[in-house]
Amino acid sequence: MKNQMKKCLICGKIFEVRGKAYNKVTCGKIKCRKENSLLNKMYWIGRNPDYYKEYSQIVLESSINKKLKVSNKPKKKDAIKNWKALNHEKWKEYMRNYMRELRASEKKKKSV
Ligand SMILES: [Zn+2]
Repeated sequence: MKNQMKKCLICGKIFEVRGKAYNKVTCGKIKCRKENSLLNKMYWIGRNPDYYKEYSQIVLESSINKKLKVSNKPKKKDAIKNWKALNHEKWKEYMRNYMRELRASEKKKKSV
């Protein structure tokens, strides 16, 4: 039995199809195989845009979650909340002073 000869879809080189690899479309070079799988992916995305949108959303969310896990820092808002709960009296005093200063500076602005 003679081996089938095929033309590589990517580089155009004629290659021999050995054995059961009858559905091979590239010559077998890593570059060609990679490019072919990318083309397949693009083709598949083109045919299943909705599915891909959902899929990319999931990938995006999981990558964001990963990033959050890696940094593992509490959110800024939460940190402020926690600080307020722990230093409630300090916080009240701070706010009182802050508001006083704010009003004073506003008065200054008006008088200028
Ligand atoms: Zn090739």
